[in-house]
Amino acid sequence: MTAKLLLLPGDGIGPEVSAQVRRVLDWLAKNRNFAFDLDEDLVGGISLEKTGLPITDKAMEKAMAADAVLFGAVGGPQWDKNAFDKKPERGLLRLRKDMELFANLRPALCFPALTDASSLKPELVSGLDIMIVRELTGGVYFGEPRGIEKLADGSRKAVDTQLYTTEEVRRIARVAFDLARKRGGVVHSAEKSNVMHTGVLWREEVTHVHETEYEDLKLIHILADNAAMQLVRNPKQFDVLVTDNLFGDILSDEASMLTGSLGMLPSASLGAKDAKTGKSKALYEPIHGSAPDIAGQNKANPIAAILSLAMCLRYSLDDEAGAKLLEDAVSSVLNAGLRTGDIMQAGKTAVSTTGMGDAILKALDSAAR
Ligand code: NAD
Repeated sequence: MTAKLLLLPGDGIGPEVSAQVRRVLDWLAKNRNFAFDLDEDLVGGISLEKTGLPITDKAMEKAMAADAVLFGAVGGPQWDKNAFDKKPERGLLRLRKDMELFANLRPALCFPALTDASSLKPELVSGLDIMIVRELTGGVYFGEPRGIEKLADGSRKAVDTQLYTTEEVRRIARVAFDLARKRGGVVHSAEKSNVMHTGVLWREEVTHVHETEYEDLKLIHILADNAAMQLVRNPKQFDVLVTDNLFGDILSDEASMLTGSLGMLPSASLGAKDAKTGKSKALYEPIHGSAPDIAGQNKANPIAAILSLAMCLRYSLDDEAGAKLLEDAVSSVLNAGLRTGDIMQAGKTAVSTTGMGDAILKALDSAAR
């Protein structure tokens, strides 16, 4: 099968880390008979400059037809004053919306060589491997009514609506249980059922999906505030943690910092399974932004982008062995002491973006020999 991939490098360090992803793709094609049809297009500020839009309909069509989209990063200070619909981020939001990417997967994985980079004690994070599953298209960021209203006395009132339906909760729960089945078999589900109706519905629907479809797995309900506390107290108790859009936004950022640097962390956003093919629309991206402070200087860490490609192999292309190969190559380069600036430690060897790419390709070559 030929995988149809769309690369959207975007702005700032996006093109620099995407160039390393491209090199890894070429390596896979040459050494693992990995057949892919790779297209590339514009998104974000660069798209605004060249087309007047944060993403064109043509690029959207390609994204909709792709097995997976590999996204770099968007944004930069030169577009900060743009009107809302002319912001680079609108390109990413349109991708998420039109592809109906409702499940955001954020692994928090601590490579042994980087345990010292965490703000927690090494024994708390060494070997850490959590998957946070965040509902991405519902909840309080989208619920109606929403807005700010002026009252008769001149003061103002603001409203956001937290809203979830049975089906929205069930489909994200299934994503979490399916992942847990391939991992440690445990799902924590976080909400606020003690004070919120949506929390009660969330807990009941997740329980229903568990009892009717995944009884072989372990489900643990946890209040979201307790989950935030447990993530810094004893993070290794978690395997898969599923939660709503708002709590997921916060908990996934918290979990990612357990592992050190933004430059290390991949993510995936998945849509509903197609009834005919069983495949999901998918977008893979490093969690970092366009890092304007280091853009164009060959300083960015490309590991988050390369680990995003590993997630793409695992979740969209059913190539667990390929994913593992990339993750092991990253691990061995870190064990050998190579570091980009963001993860630099005393006594280690500083490398550039391309230098890190070179080292990862070399590690792949050794693994293939
Ligand atoms: P950022 O993630 O771009 O950078 C935060 C800090 O981390 C910077 O000091 C940067 O140099 C460093 N950093 C980030 N990624 C790195 C990497 N791979 N290697 C080495 N260092 C790295 O966040 P920000 O500064 O808040 O935002 C900058 C721009 O990116 C803004 O325009 C913002 O809107 C945008 N942004 C885009 C996305 C996205 O495309 N998904 C996400 C977040 C922010």
